[in-house]
Amino acid sequence: MSRAKQLCVGVAAGGLVGLGSTVATVAVASADTGNSDAGSSSSAVKAGSSTAQPKARTSPQAKAVRTNEALSQPAAASRKTATAGRTTTATSAAELVSLALSTVGSATPGTGHSRRGVVMTASAAAATGNNATVTTQSTTPTHVLVIGIDGTNLSAILSNPDNVNLQALISTGTTAASTMVGHTTMSNPSWTGILTGVWSETAGLFNNVFTPWTYDKWPTIFNQLETYDPGIQTTVIADWENIAQIAGAGSIPADTIKFFPKYNNSWLDTDDLVGQASVDAINNTTAGVSSFNFTYFVGVDDTGHEYDAGSPQYAAALTNVDQNVGEIMAAVNTWNAAHPDEPWTVLVTTDHGQVPWPTIRLGSDMRAHGFQTPWETTTFVIANGPGFEQGAINNTYSNIDITPTVDALFGLTPPSYSAGKPLMDLAGSDYKPVAPGFDAIKQALTDAIAMYGYPNVVTNVALDLRTIVGFVPYFVYTVFNGLTADMSGPLKLPIQFIGALLYQATNIPAQIIARLTGVTGNQIIPPDLWPYTTVPGTQPEPPATAVPTPVAIAV
Ligand SMILES: [Zn+2]
Repeated sequence: MSRAKQLCVGVAAGGLVGLGSTVATVAVASADTGNSDAGSSSSAVKAGSSTAQPKARTSPQAKAVRTNEALSQPAAASRKTATAGRTTTATSAAELVSLALSTVGSATPGTGHSRRGVVMTASAAAATGNNATVTTQSTTPTHVLVIGIDGTNLSAILSNPDNVNLQALISTGTTAASTMVGHTTMSNPSWTGILTGVWSETAGLFNNVFTPWTYDKWPTIFNQLETYDPGIQTTVIADWENIAQIAGAGSIPADTIKFFPKYNNSWLDTDDLVGQASVDAINNTTAGVSSFNFTYFVGVDDTGHEYDAGSPQYAAALTNVDQNVGEIMAAVNTWNAAHPDEPWTVLVTTDHGQVPWPTIRLGSDMRAHGFQTPWETTTFVIANGPGFEQGAINNTYSNIDITPTVDALFGLTPPSYSAGKPLMDLAGSDYKPVAPGFDAIKQALTDAIAMYGYPNVVTNVALDLRTIVGFVPYFVYTVFNGLTADMSGPLKLPIQFIGALLYQATNIPAQIIARLTGVTGNQIIPPDLWPYTTVPGTQPEPPATAVPTPVAIAV
């Protein structure tokens, strides 16, 4: 990371200091629409491709890939959508404003018709997909595991030799240094993208308040698979409540949802519970029955918020996840050896990165991400299993491809509105380092990470503003939800009511600003004004706290 980029990060982070400075920057940005990048001249070159896939230069087969994509996509329109989803959208302030005016004007209950129209189109597309693929569905059971590691920098995986298990998955699979530049780098919006196949702007999200109606419009991968074939066993194991909530939302939720609240006052211990539950789920897989498991670890992200992503604690949290991944892969390998006709496909991804230095602290929490530095927008995808080349790199992958990929692995045609593509369709852009071995892969991925820059200045400032305003209602919600969660008695409802009023007083203006900054799918007035939601699924009994060691007793 060059000093120039750090300065750019400083500018972006400076937006946090106050809205005034951000508005001032907007003014500068508006006057400077000719400039495509906020960064230094060197990063400007990179940012030209920042939307921007290094692969476009490295793959001699790009043309062939496009042909394959054309064949694999159900409609030209969806191809166009997918392309748009991979590029930074805002091109000028004038376009932004005119788009905003055209959409805000209709941001009244009257637009429900057009929104429902979108929903119906989506549903119809999904149904068409189902019908189209029933005849081609394989009778061989399919097993897919997606491992989500929140807030994880690929560079942190690569740089620490202790991460043996993730590095082994990289060495034996196909890996992307991917980017989500131009999209909000917040967890709820981003995991929604990963688990629905549409970017958060389309889904209408920009902060971490769970909105159940989102998934009625944009079915999750669990909804999609369960609708396609209710016989598929879908399992979600997570230690962040939003993931359990997303898994429980929409038409047909996941079959099994296990949510682990913070245990033993340690996110690493909590991640260990997730890892063990995931191992158990793999071991309990039923032969002959297709299964889809999503395992989600929050510990790395939360540690980054507490200590920053450059800290030894962050590295330790990642190594802890790596050990859990090792145990999960041991269970997978045992299964594969016993059932060679039903091997697992394993996909690993993250929702965003984090800046590796201390930032502004609000309470105990640092704002480690949410903006558009390359640290935050660089993500990764590892695909490991039959059909994925060993030791290859494919930087055309994106985390938005996860849901279409899982769809395709189960024989379901992804909905036509999907922003991503099945990774299998991108195989033409695989490339391998000249030298064999992990070190060469590591170097090639590091080179790819270094190519990523900022979005253009208008997009950068717009997304910073979106994140800052979106944080306010989320903060209000968090305070009142925390205050009333364990409360009983006559005061609970009045306090919740005051919280709901304050939340909507900040949320509705934030929704308007989000629309102005390119969030096309949000509802300015939420269909449900009561923001409090429950967490579905089971909350397994945590093990008894460890018995103190003799040394501790002696003390
Ligand atoms: Zn986070």
